[in-house]
Amino acid sequence: MEQDHNLAVQRSHERLEQIADLAVAQLGGQLGDWDLNLRELNALPPPAALRAKFPLNGTLVILEHYSVAADPGRSLLFVPEPPSASPLPDVFEAAGKFEFRDQNYERALEALQPLTQKPAARAEALLRIARLERRLNHPDAALVAYDRMLQETAVSNDGVPYALLAAGARCELLASVHDPLHSAAAATERLRAALVEGRWPLHRETFEYYWAEVNRLRHTSDDPPKDAQDFSLLVSRLNEQWQQALRTGSSFNGREAQADASLLIWHATPSRLTALYAPAGWLGAGLKLPANADDIRWRLLAPSSPAGTEPHVLRSLAEAQLAGRLEFSSVSTVPDAGLNRALRLAGVGLMLVLVLAGAYALYRGVSRELRVAQLQSDFVSAVSHEFRSPLTSLSGISELLANGRLADESRKNQAYAYLQRETGRLKRLVEDLLDFGRMESGRKQYQIEPHDVFGVVRAVVADFREEALAGGFGVELNLDSNAPTVKADEQELRRAIRNLLENAVKYSPECRTVWVEGRVNHRQVAISVRDRGMGIEPREQRVVFQKFVRGAAAKKAGIKGTGIGLSMVRQIVDACGGEIRLESVPGEGSTFTLFFPLAGAGETRK
Ligand code: ADP
Repeated sequence: MEQDHNLAVQRSHERLEQIADLAVAQLGGQLGDWDLNLRELNALPPPAALRAKFPLNGTLVILEHYSVAADPGRSLLFVPEPPSASPLPDVFEAAGKFEFRDQNYERALEALQPLTQKPAARAEALLRIARLERRLNHPDAALVAYDRMLQETAVSNDGVPYALLAAGARCELLASVHDPLHSAAAATERLRAALVEGRWPLHRETFEYYWAEVNRLRHTSDDPPKDAQDFSLLVSRLNEQWQQALRTGSSFNGREAQADASLLIWHATPSRLTALYAPAGWLGAGLKLPANADDIRWRLLAPSSPAGTEPHVLRSLAEAQLAGRLEFSSVSTVPDAGLNRALRLAGVGLMLVLVLAGAYALYRGVSRELRVAQLQSDFVSAVSHEFRSPLTSLSGISELLANGRLADESRKNQAYAYLQRETGRLKRLVEDLLDFGRMESGRKQYQIEPHDVFGVVRAVVADFREEALAGGFGVELNLDSNAPTVKADEQELRRAIRNLLENAVKYSPECRTVWVEGRVNHRQVAISVRDRGMGIEPREQRVVFQKFVRGAAAKKAGIKGTGIGLSMVRQIVDACGGEIRLESVPGEGSTFTLFFPLAGAGETRK
């Protein structure tokens, strides 16, 4: 009966795993679709129909130089690049002389009046008229000028819209004259509402200045609405990073699940950046569970949050190019019905007797066997996973292609590229497994020959860089200028370095750069692959090179793997007469360094 129970638990766990794989693969596809739609938005004037293709509660941001639009309209308290000052015609000289040199305000007013008829000069003329009327102690006339200015769209020399200058000055004037006909409080409320609704595209400093003014006039110390402020900051940050990417000539697109569980996807060309911002809850729209999964619950875990205590399955979102994990659990429990309490007690008693009776050596032997058996069964289940999730997405995508459901060319091309990448990955996995079998049984043949080892490193990095870039990762390569020769099997050496690179990317949930360095001295060459990822516990640093061993942190984070990569790397390095060393600090990162003896002192060329 106990066995039946265990079997039921195992089945329920496997079902959970299958559902989790399907859901995550489907989510990856969904995000890929949103990505593609953003690219389309960049290519065309945005077609209205495209709006329907994004999550309902998401906001599309379209940034161009000197313009920003949000759809659906959303308030921006300040914008990254507000329009610059409107050019002023050269017509204020006479009025300026009367005002400043002669201090003859009446004459200055006369000179300014006709300028209010000229559209390009009107806003500035009204501003000066209001100022003069205030000097002449005619608050009503100043208010009339400010009222007219409220309709203006031009921007003053200080980069502040004339309409905002007028609204601010009106509030202040009304507060000082205590005019019972005009309520200073109502004017201040109107100015506040206009700032909150983002009526004018403002510099951040301008917004902050007028916000402080409004607070002063209302005797309050309110913060601006948090939503609008966060959104405005997000748009400014995106713009800053875009400009930076344009300066360095790098491409700028990516995805991010933010700490508050909102989602940001962006894609930029030199002239336009489009981004999708979906508040927390987007995942509800993006993650579809199969029909028979009513009992399944899921939640998003930030990279460092612990998983729950009930039985669950974790899936890293790395394949969907996001940090964090999804935790799946089932609310229906496995029935415990047939489990007989007496039998359980008897079993426990028997176990106790066995344990007491067993000699220490026997205990050691048994536990080692058990550990190996556990490792092997973990390995079999990991390998099945490695195949299952790409196969699920491959069959889904081939079906879409076969049924002609991907109509436009760019979608088809993306689907083909995906098929190519994933079949390549599966092929490498099969080859790895076959070669691993050969290495284990001692049947592996190595072709050891002298090679320009940095040339090999360069080739692997160039190859890997393209794939890494698709996942938003960069590889920095730094090699000594020498061209050292090392005796090695080129194919296998490539495999070893690639393996280290794949691990560096896979186990770096947050830092998106990995570093490859090559150093040479008179005796040996050192090639290191460094990351700033999750690191490896000191007590695990030796055992991770054993076959099937996977680190606790990696498993906890739901990162998939088979546990044979490092064991193969070590066998390859051994076969080439080299050595591998690991330095790692949990939470800070790892450096794997391969050392190879030089093929001969004379063979190192400058
Ligand atoms: P796999 O990656 O398939 O689990 P490997 O043999 O390549 O198998 O690695 C064994 C274990 O070593 C991993 O499960 C992981 O815990 C740890 N590991 C390997 N490379 C890194 C790395 N760069 N950063 C952190 N942990 C790593």
